[in-house]
Amino acid sequence: MVTPVKDVTIPEKAQTTLLLQKHSDFIAAYGTKKDDYEYCITEYLRMSGIYWGLTALSLMDKIDKVDRDEVLEFVKKCQHENGGFSASIGHDPHLLYTLSAVQILTLYGTTDTVKTAKIVEYVKGLQQEDGSFIGDKWGEVDSRFCFCAVATLKLLGKLDAIDVDKTIQFVLSCMNFDGGFGSRPDSESHSGQIYCCVGLLAITGKLHHVNADMLGWWLCERQLPSGGLNGRPEKLPDVCYSWWVLSSLKIIGRLHWIDKEKLVRFILACQDDETGGFSDRPGDTVDPFHTLFGLAGLSLLGDKSIKEVNPVFCMPQETIDKLGIRLQLLSL
Ligand SMILES: [Zn+2]
Repeated sequence: MVTPVKDVTIPEKAQTTLLLQKHSDFIAAYGTKKDDYEYCITEYLRMSGIYWGLTALSLMDKIDKVDRDEVLEFVKKCQHENGGFSASIGHDPHLLYTLSAVQILTLYGTTDTVKTAKIVEYVKGLQQEDGSFIGDKWGEVDSRFCFCAVATLKLLGKLDAIDVDKTIQFVLSCMNFDGGFGSRPDSESHSGQIYCCVGLLAITGKLHHVNADMLGWWLCERQLPSGGLNGRPEKLPDVCYSWWVLSSLKIIGRLHWIDKEKLVRFILACQDDETGGFSDRPGDTVDPFHTLFGLAGLSLLGDKSIKEVNPVFCMPQETIDKLGIRLQLLSL
């Protein structure tokens, strides 16, 4: 018996053009409706939310649509005594939000407005004996946190503050026989983790450890008949996974292995043509997270109406260039 493929059908009347103006209006309005239910229930990830929205706007060359001073004031208030940043004022600091905060400051070119030496100290303090990182004081280990640590320090020009070789060894110990990476040694491959691990290897110049053909094959198999990509076998396609799979393929030089035209069609079908914004799948509710990854995916797929995105940092390439950061990317 053949198991039917889990997938979605793209509606006949689905949107086929990119609604840039509506997307920038959607993002710009999002942060202004502070009493909205949606805005309130996302407080636990506010810092990342601001990074998603700001990056989406800057990829559309509309970063001026949000109040810069208000954002910087908020970021500053989220830095804790130990140097880490929290998702919102009064919450606990975490590596995830520390990276988001540094990305926001980098987008504005103002990392010097916060205590950067303290950030470095905070990140360094989360490294474990085996080279891995815990996300916060509660101690959960995940290969994603290795990426957060390395990306944060690279943006600050302070990568030498940690034991990079040990981190690389830990990340390589999360590599599986299928070429992918999991959250810890012997954990199943997942495209979110793959993005973090190959991103870390691109930053540290160690991509030669990756079996690019085998990993490229696993990543390409994520494309479903609808054109969308899923995060792992037997899951539905999702715009955010399109980004994680796509950026990983870009990093290992295998982006042309997927059907670009079909993926573009899938991503465009996830737009809401009334409110603006992208959702995970056609017809679902839009949000800033999927809006960023929809736009970033289209940029990687060659859409010239969006700025070029850096596949590792998920920020405009020009921002990364300004810092003089060079990454290793493989070519076929
Ligand atoms: Zn998603």
